[in-house]
Amino acid sequence: MDLYEYQARELLEEADIPTPRAIYAQNSHDVAEAAKQIGFPCVIKAQVKIGHRGQAGGVKIAHDLDEAILISEQLFPMTIHGHKVNGVLVAEAKNIIHEYYVSISVDRASRDYDVLATANGGTEVEELAKSHPESVKRLHIGPLDDFDIEAARDMASQIGFYHADGEQAAEILLKMWRAFHNSDATLVEINPLAKIGDPDDESSKSLCALDAKISLDGNAAYRHDGWARFTDPNEGDPLENKAKALGLHYVHLDGEVGIIGNGAGLVMSSLDAVAGAGERLGTNVKPANFLDIGGGASAAVMAESLEIVLSDRKVRSVFINVYGGITSCEEVANGILEAIDKMNNIRPIVVRFDGNKAQEGLRILAQAGNPQIQVADTMEQAAEQAARLADDATNGGEAR
Ligand code: GDP
Ligand code: MN
Repeated sequence: MDLYEYQARELLEEADIPTPRAIYAQNSHDVAEAAKQIGFPCVIKAQVKIGHRGQAGGVKIAHDLDEAILISEQLFPMTIHGHKVNGVLVAEAKNIIHEYYVSISVDRASRDYDVLATANGGTEVEELAKSHPESVKRLHIGPLDDFDIEAARDMASQIGFYHADGEQAAEILLKMWRAFHNSDATLVEINPLAKIGDPDDESSKSLCALDAKISLDGNAAYRHDGWARFTDPNEGDPLENKAKALGLHYVHLDGEVGIIGNGAGLVMSSLDAVAGAGERLGTNVKPANFLDIGGGASAAVMAESLEIVLSDRKVRSVFINVYGGITSCEEVANGILEAIDKMNNIRPIVVRFDGNKAQEGLRILAQAGNPQIQVADTMEQAAEQAARLADDATNGGEAR
């Protein structure tokens, strides 16, 4: 999970790494208010999850209020390398004396952590790594290493921080490491880590993180309340977000046959069976989604699942494939009926049950006598039936 700069900054601030004062804003009016608070000159930066915003015209300096408003009106309509600008950061502009680059990332090849750094920071680090590889230092932190202030000082001197910056650089490296470690990041990058201040006044100079890029390891989300504070309503598939909130494993695909099953393996097989049937029938019909209701699913979970799958307007039929182990097919049957009761835009559903309470489940469905529900004996038959129904509906059927 990649963070926006304004979110990455929060983690740096919490780690006590110096950053310029800044306010996030989502429209020109708020930019004007933010700029007044921050003061002038200020830097206005498009918030998109992509680098080189500066070169793309996404980072601009405003010297007064009018300019701030003008810049924000330029930035909001922008799309930078395919990323729409939904917000900007208004930050205190600093006088840059020198730019360093520092990052910590997971190195899968050497199974440890990589610290990449150069005394020649700024926007062109990738270029620099190619043209002058000797100026980019790569150091390692072992997973069991005790990375303390001594180790950080040693590292800062190897990286080539100028003498006066060495001690503060070591402190920042140590704090970066803690932030990286404590927030289960896969990348923490500061570029530029700038030396700022008045060039003629030695005591005014210090290091400051002017830009930050952080990626978090999605597998660790459960240890951080799901990183709810970083989730972006503008991002991701709306159906997937809804399913996630309900604790369902749903992946949106682009076909016409909705798929619901229990167990990832069975759901994958169901996808294959539907895709295969679609081809055999000479149609373009494909699976519309992956949805695993898991083990021991209740009627309520089944009902929620069906609602999610049917909120995809492209879905023309649904294939429900349940092998009753811990899950009782009776519960699943009740869930299907419950969902159908609540909804008014049902499409044909083909059900295949096997295992725990399969016969009871099928009986419940038969007794309901709903013409939209069909049953099949095998997975292949059910997949073919569902594919055929979807094809009929797409090519002149009732859904059109
Ligand atoms: P990026 O292009 O996406 O990496 O965005 P950055 O936030 O790194 O900004 C790009 C460049 O804008 C930096 O490398 C700086 O040269 C410049 N910049 C950013 N903040 C400031 C600032 O406070 N003062 C000055 N003078 N330049 C800045
Ligand atoms: Mn940058």
